[in-house]
Amino acid sequence: MQWDNGGEFKKSLPIVTLMERNQMTQPLYLPNGGWDQRIHAFKYTELVTCYAVVTQRYLVILDTLISPKTMRVMMDHLKPQMTSERRLLVVNTHSDWDHVWGNQLFAGEDALYPAPIIASRRCRADFDLPEAQSQLADLQKQNPGELDDVRITPPTLLFDERLTIEGGDLTLEIFPARGHTHDHTAIYVPEIKTLFAADSAERPYPQPRKPEMLPQMRQTLAELATYDAEVVLYCHADDVDGAVIRDNIAYFHFIEEKCRRAKAAGIELPDEKEADVASLIDCSFVDAMGQDSGDYHNYYQTQGHYDQIRAVWQSM
Ligand SMILES: [Zn+2]
Repeated sequence: MQWDNGGEFKKSLPIVTLMERNQMTQPLYLPNGGWDQRIHAFKYTELVTCYAVVTQRYLVILDTLISPKTMRVMMDHLKPQMTSERRLLVVNTHSDWDHVWGNQLFAGEDALYPAPIIASRRCRADFDLPEAQSQLADLQKQNPGELDDVRITPPTLLFDERLTIEGGDLTLEIFPARGHTHDHTAIYVPEIKTLFAADSAERPYPQPRKPEMLPQMRQTLAELATYDAEVVLYCHADDVDGAVIRDNIAYFHFIEEKCRRAKAAGIELPDEKEADVASLIDCSFVDAMGQDSGDYHNYYQTQGHYDQIRAVWQSM
C-alpha cells in the first residue's frame, strides 16, 4: 500500500495496469516451475503472485492477494491440503494492499477460514493509518465491482524482528528485508533452499517507498544474495532463481557508477521531478537493465527510472 503520499515513489502502476488492460479476473494456479512440490503458487493477472507452503503441521499462506474474492479462489485450490492434522497459518510479508486485502477471509466475524494472521509489529501498525482507508476508497472507485467487499483486516499474531515456523518437515524463517517498505519481511526455507523474496526484489526493479530508504533496500538485496538459495520466488517476477536479485543489484550499481561520473564532471540534477535525468547522466533504462530486455511499462522506463537515479544520487 502506498502510505506515504509525499514520497517520491508511487506505487500507482499496478492500478493503472489493471485499468488499462481491464483484466480483473481470477487468480491462476501456476504449474510447478521447478520448486518443491509442497509449494503452491497463485498469480493474479500481472499484478501479484502469492504462495502457499504445505508442511506436516501447517498450511502456510504467504500473502492474501487483493481481495476476499481472489483469495477464496486460492483457498478453494488448497482445500485438499486442509486436513485435521494440519493447521492453517497466514503470513503477511508487508502491508502493501496487493498482499493483504484478502486478509478478511481469515479474521473477523465472517471469516471463512479463521486462522492466525502473522506479521511484524511494523506491518500491523500500518493497518491503522488513515491512508489505508483512503487508498481502499480510491481503488474501489477506480475498479468498480472488484474491491467492493474488501475490509481492512489487520494481522493478529505479531513478532518484532524474526519468527520461525517449525512445520515438521519444513522450517519457515521469517526475517526483516526492509527498504521497499519499512515493514518488509522475507522467508527462507532451509530444507529446500528456497527463498521467498516477496517484493524485496522484482522486475524490472524494486522501488523504495521513500528515496531515503534506497540504501536499506540495496543492503537487503545484498543480504538476500548471500543466501544459498536454489529456488527464489518473487511476488512481482516470474523467475525461480536468484537472477532477479543479481539483476537488481547490478541495476543500482550501474546507476551508481553513472552518478559518480556525472558528479565528478560537475553535473547537477535539475529540481523538477519529471526531468529526464537519465539522458543527463548518460544512464538510459535499457543500458541500466543490462541483459534484461523485458517489455516493461513506460512508467518504469521513464519516471520510475528517473526516481531511482535521484534516490541513488541523493544517497552518495
Ligand atoms: Zn507487491
